[in-house]
Amino acid sequence: MNPFRYIDSNMKNLVSDLQLLIRQPSVSAKNEGIEECSKLVKKLLAKSGVKSEILRLKKGVAPLVYGEIKSKSNPARTLLFYNHYDVQPAEPFELWDDPPFSGKVKGNKVFGRGSADDKGELITRIKAVEACLKTTGDVPCNVKFVIEGEEETGSAHIEDYLKKYQKKFSCDGVIWEFGYVDSKDRPIVGLGMKGLLFVELSVTESIRDAHSSLAVLIKNPAWRLIEALKTLRDENGKILIKDWYKDVVPFSKTDLDIISKEPFDEKSLKEEFGVDSFVGNLRGLDAKKALVGGATCNIAGIVSGYTGEGAKTVLPGTALVKIDFRLVPKMDPKKQVMRLKNHLKLKGFSDIDVKVFHGEAAARTDPSDPFVTQVKEAADESYGKSIINVSNAGTGPMFSFADILKSPCISIGSTYMFSRIHSPNEFARIDLLKKTTKCICLIMEKFGRS
Ligand SMILES: [Zn+2]
Repeated sequence: MNPFRYIDSNMKNLVSDLQLLIRQPSVSAKNEGIEECSKLVKKLLAKSGVKSEILRLKKGVAPLVYGEIKSKSNPARTLLFYNHYDVQPAEPFELWDDPPFSGKVKGNKVFGRGSADDKGELITRIKAVEACLKTTGDVPCNVKFVIEGEEETGSAHIEDYLKKYQKKFSCDGVIWEFGYVDSKDRPIVGLGMKGLLFVELSVTESIRDAHSSLAVLIKNPAWRLIEALKTLRDENGKILIKDWYKDVVPFSKTDLDIISKEPFDEKSLKEEFGVDSFVGNLRGLDAKKALVGGATCNIAGIVSGYTGEGAKTVLPGTALVKIDFRLVPKMDPKKQVMRLKNHLKLKGFSDIDVKVFHGEAAARTDPSDPFVTQVKEAADESYGKSIINVSNAGTGPMFSFADILKSPCISIGSTYMFSRIHSPNEFARIDLLKKTTKCICLIMEKFGRS
């Protein structure tokens, strides 16, 4: 039997193992089921023939599951799979059609928190290795699994893990934790991730809330915050902070060529979110360029005063906003924080307090790296025509991997782009899980041969 036929006839096991993973809640934000899930992952790896160990940094940090299998036929090349076993909180529970940790199968879909992000992706990689081992008694290249438990809270310690276990994790290529399949079932070979800077701005005008009749005398922090926010960004999304774009390198000719070829279903995206137009009226190539290489300043949440039912005439004492800035290559999060603070000072908002929660730089793999061709060929052969994407619009700790392990990183996977990750009724498509498992086999083969 060859690995592909093994995968075809073992899909039931893949789905039931994925259900096991979904049924073990592992919400990092609430430290719910993290230990238990790391042990379950270790068990599933063992079941598929991969030896693993649970690595720890210190108390209070989620353990990392590390798996390794050496190739007898080709011990010179090492491929590393990066995944995470933690999931987003499932709230609001009432919006789920079935309980979020049920792993319910309906037709071609497995539902549940983590079904796609990232337990579905993880299972395809484990099963691809299993398929090789069970049918050939070997893997086409050395394989390493790095499966962390804090991705959904921002991978706060992955860099520390990478530094501490740099030798253990050494490899020649990294397959990223997820990969998307577009609305026309074309897999996306992703070469990069944007960076992120997450901050909280807060302002206090009085030591406690007041009766709003005093608004004639006492300043309102919500107005103050709004005035400050208005200086950060114009209505077209351009960030107005001095030197914000200073270090950004323009797209290369190759980048632009790839971006122009990338299909972009503007209509579907608008329909999915019920919007008529995009920010700054971007469309076509400009919208694609923004997704790949645009920096953002997004208000993630803003609170002040009374927002409950009915009316309450109150003058709040404080106002607070959470902002995420997406960063593009060469933007250093630390520098950007300084620029933000300077900007507020310069504009007369020294009273606004800036708290930094998270900063990470963007990463991109060079499109001319041979690893890109290997992954692209594998994707073309297993799903049909694939698409190269210069950078995902989202963020992950890719910079740390590329920087510390000195390896190219590529994302490829089974996540249908509208599979509602981070939302109620998240699902994984079984047909895509199958194609991806085959694709991972092919990647190992091509990578091993190179
Ligand atoms: Zn996620």
